[in-house]
Amino acid sequence: MPSSVWGRGVALCALFLAGCETVPPQQQLKNTSRTFNSVVVDAGHGGRDSGAYRRSGPPEKTVTLDVATRLSRKLRDSQLKVVMTRTNDVFIPLDTRVDIENATPNSIFVSIHFNDSRRRGVKGFETYYHSPYAADLAQNIQSRLCSLKGAVNRGVHTADFRVVRKALYPAVLVECGYLSNRSEGREARNGEYRELLAEKIAQAIVEQRYGVGAYHAPAPAVVSQESQPPPPPQQQQKRKPVLAPPGEGPGLAPPTLSGH
Ligand SMILES: [Zn+2]
Repeated sequence: MPSSVWGRGVALCALFLAGCETVPPQQQLKNTSRTFNSVVVDAGHGGRDSGAYRRSGPPEKTVTLDVATRLSRKLRDSQLKVVMTRTNDVFIPLDTRVDIENATPNSIFVSIHFNDSRRRGVKGFETYYHSPYAADLAQNIQSRLCSLKGAVNRGVHTADFRVVRKALYPAVLVECGYLSNRSEGREARNGEYRELLAEKIAQAIVEQRYGVGAYHAPAPAVVSQESQPPPPPQQQQKRKPVLAPPGEGPGLAPPTLSGH
């Protein structure tokens, strides 16, 4: 039976995402939306900030980390540099996340979240941005996510979330569905579905950088070297991950999600 318990997810999410600091002047914003070689991948929440929470499944902070980890792996496989704002269950202040993104040259920033609503029927994907230079990236991610079977498109919007508002580089925040919705909550608890979410977001990012058709899904582990798709030629010598998640093989969820 679905839980009717309400956690503090919505209030906490809004509290931790918002803020009243100043916005970078327009002339300081950098348009790297087509030239970036690094992606700052931000797993929403963490540590004492659980984000949205439902008794029926893991908290938002756990599923965001799983999708972010899978996404980071796929981006590295596509020869992009990746910086993760967190690789385990730790609290990272929003300003620290902003500092990380703004200290990563020639980058874009992608924050992974899941949503919550008092109305259990509400479902769908939403993507947010602030800098006008992030509009294309937001639209591409939203479009790819909405190609998933049964997806509901809740649109691309501008927002004042601190991590996108204070970013110097193009920054987006992706809401990967509603944990409060029965079907999307069930999907979020499924590792194969989270792999699909990561796949779509990775495809959108790689295509944003290299063009439509540039993304190649990672080959199965058993295929021969010759049959693997070549990386984009201009990045062959540049692969140098900045931070690596500890000891996880391809396609494996972090240990905290096994059994879900
Ligand atoms: Zn959130």
